[in-house]
Amino acid sequence: MRVLAAAVCCAVVALVASASARATHGPPPWEGGLSVVSPLEARLATITSEFASRSTAAICHSEAEWAAVAAARNFDPAVVLAFVRRGEAASYLSDVVCRDLDELVGNYASVVRRCQVGTVTEYRQLKRTVTRSVTKRVRVRGQWTMRRVRVRKTVTVSRPVDVPIYRLCSNYVRTVVAVQVLAHEAMHVRGIVNEAAAECYAMQVFASVAERLGVPTTRAREMASDYWRDVYPQRPPESAYRSSECRDGGALDLAPTSSSWPTP
Ligand SMILES: [Zn+2]
Repeated sequence: MRVLAAAVCCAVVALVASASARATHGPPPWEGGLSVVSPLEARLATITSEFASRSTAAICHSEAEWAAVAAARNFDPAVVLAFVRRGEAASYLSDVVCRDLDELVGNYASVVRRCQVGTVTEYRQLKRTVTRSVTKRVRVRGQWTMRRVRVRKTVTVSRPVDVPIYRLCSNYVRTVVAVQVLAHEAMHVRGIVNEAAAECYAMQVFASVAERLGVPTTRAREMASDYWRDVYPQRPPESAYRSSECRDGGALDLAPTSSSWPTP
């Protein structure tokens, strides 16, 4: 393990880049500097301690503080979102992570999951009843004659329909990443050094961590599934953060008898 344990790497750079535009409610969670424990820091410390099985601190940094830490420790502040230091029971969290967690704690429902990103035109077969004028042989007073009459008929027509396309909202994905970062660092504090193992175990406790942050169970499990499906695959296969053993029934499965994944 490197002294600096990066929680999330390059796959989320683009997501992080626009995070500074997010609105914050109330004082930022890093207010008062490193010597003051904000309400969010206290809550994150309690959660991290539970999953790390030891008492630990959670430290939120402002953007400027994170940039200074990054310069001193020689990492890219836009790529590394958190780290732990060997032998220390503390999670050092970036402003981006803390802001996203702060918003989730404040009102999980404000973090909208799906956003419309466009439309696609589809052609659908529709049944229509039409009235047409036809020439028909009819009998009038005993005599057959040709007359124009109107008849109703059901026809199938093809019509273009604009169908909305939805994706996970970028704010939502950032929030999901922030929860995973918190869980990932807790695994490091717990003593799990290997990045792929820490990442995989964190995914399996993700829903429980999200619940501690105030997210209802169903939504918390959905967020864990979204991370597994949409974010985890962005890591290169067999990279430091990804393992083929991280799957239901794999060597990193914490609950091998359960067929539910990633949340047992
Ligand atoms: Zn790590």
